[in-house]
Amino acid sequence: MPRQSEKQRIVPKLHRPAEAADGVHVHPLHQAEFLTTAAEWGQLPAGGAPEIAFAGRSNAGKSSAINALTQRTRLAYVSKTPGRTQHINLFRLRSGALLADLPGYGYAKVPEAMRRHWQHFIAKYLAQRAPLIGLLLVMDARHPLTELDWQMFGWFLPTGRPVHVLLTKCDKLGTEAQRRTLETVRKALTDAYGERSAQVGVQLFSATRRIGIAEAEVALASWLGPLAH
Ligand code: GDP
Repeated sequence: MPRQSEKQRIVPKLHRPAEAADGVHVHPLHQAEFLTTAAEWGQLPAGGAPEIAFAGRSNAGKSSAINALTQRTRLAYVSKTPGRTQHINLFRLRSGALLADLPGYGYAKVPEAMRRHWQHFIAKYLAQRAPLIGLLLVMDARHPLTELDWQMFGWFLPTGRPVHVLLTKCDKLGTEAQRRTLETVRKALTDAYGERSAQVGVQLFSATRRIGIAEAEVALASWLGPLAH
């Protein structure tokens, strides 16, 4: 184990440990700020700060999850009209790491040209975005693993990086249905990907009831590594 001083030296200069002005440690996901919006590859931030992407079907609860995990009530916009935003919103954490809020997918009324643009952009983003260290995939616990969710795994898993699935709105299911859903999703991933499914974590989550927040925080903090401490 490196001593603290050695540990600090290997943290790139840009990425300050998450420490509030009064010296008290804050969780690495808290105190996020809006950084920028990218509608195409060239608008994504340069600089190489580690990035965590949040993705999911429109209306699955992605914005609510981002707000719950960053402890900001309105950082990500909770949608009234699903499927309208087709760009990536980027938020900067105190450490300098970034959260990338990807456009929600699967909304039937999106015009075909826009859908094709989205597919092309997101496929490239997930497969080739170098600073991306992990994907947080949000699925409504009542309708998990849609065709486009599988598509996201297909684009991202070949990078060898981790995925963490939030089965959201679990407050809408009873305890037994929650348990069954979790088991079914885990089994489907094991059946589909075998050993590679070890790259994927799955948990129950509810933004409104604040279920699973600590578990998600631990998963994301583990990706951020030395930045988390
Ligand atoms: P997004 O389109 O994936 O960003 O989804 P939103 O976060 O905008 O949420 C879509 C709808 O689901 C909104 O009406 C939210 O209030 C609701 N919602 C989000 N998370 C939860 C949750 O954990 N439980 C319940 N019951 N509703 C939720």
